[in-house]
Amino acid sequence: MQWNDIVGHEQIISNLRTMLETDHLPHALLFFGMEGIGKALTAKMLAMALLCNAKNRPCGECPSCQAFIKGTHPDFFLLEPDGKTVKMIKIEQLRQMQADISLAPYLSDKRVVIIDGADKINETAANALLKTLEEPVGNIYFILTANNKEKVLATILSRCVNIYFSLLDNEAVMNILQKKEIAAGAASKLADLSGGSIRQALTLYENNGLENRDMAFKFLKDVFIYSDENIWQITDVLLKFKREQLNEWIFYLQMFWRDMIILYNKDNIKLYNSDMNDELIEQKYIWNLQQIFMAVEYSQIAEQRLMSNADMRLIIEEFILKLRNLK
Ligand SMILES: [Zn+2]
Repeated sequence: MQWNDIVGHEQIISNLRTMLETDHLPHALLFFGMEGIGKALTAKMLAMALLCNAKNRPCGECPSCQAFIKGTHPDFFLLEPDGKTVKMIKIEQLRQMQADISLAPYLSDKRVVIIDGADKINETAANALLKTLEEPVGNIYFILTANNKEKVLATILSRCVNIYFSLLDNEAVMNILQKKEIAAGAASKLADLSGGSIRQALTLYENNGLENRDMAFKFLKDVFIYSDENIWQITDVLLKFKREQLNEWIFYLQMFWRDMIILYNKDNIKLYNSDMNDELIEQKYIWNLQQIFMAVEYSQIAEQRLMSNADMRLIIEEFILKLRNLK
């Protein structure tokens, strides 16, 4: 683990390192910004550096760094949301942390606590955290992360120095994907579709998102000429999808329609599927605006019904039938 492993956020990293070296790092920090852009990674790197006593921190070799890498550092505490259905940071986790930090540090001269999900903390636990932030024991640093700053208790926000992590640009996302040995062509498309979140890009990759999108586009091109039999066949294929993939397939359709509306309005907005500009312009000759708006509405109805326990085959067939009948 090195500072260089973090892609993007150069200014933040540089500021943090300067504060670290000049011993001006605030004792409570909150990193906020979209999910999957490197907040937790930066928090961990900073924690490792804080605990290391070498000149060039983190050195990666001293007993403290070694323990940190192994995940056994006695002066480092990581709290993450926990639970089977709704993941939250609970009061028990807070109490355990409070008990742990009341003892003297073992390996370093300080302790570091990361709360990875300060926006996913129930009220009792949040109040306990607030108390710990207000009355810290000994030399201790708190690094909080939150995807959704609005969901963090205002009193906690005001106790921390808030640092905003912006979305990654396409190039940064591509860099990370290529480090993971994803081919350049796919990496570039995934980066385009990621909305600046590396996690979103990887989810797309793992769920065969690009294939799914291709399939959605083929569907969009052909749906007006589907026979009843075609509709049964495509429904069979879609029924084999995981729920997540099915939602994604609908999402891609919606993004195609959205892009076509942008093309109709000649808005100066970047297309979601910017790599498919020409194909989408072709579709403009097949879909008129009225049909597109109706299609979006049908897709939203289908989406909602898929969240209920209604029969999936029925929902999908009806959705496709309504689209075909727009012709
Ligand atoms: Zn070290």
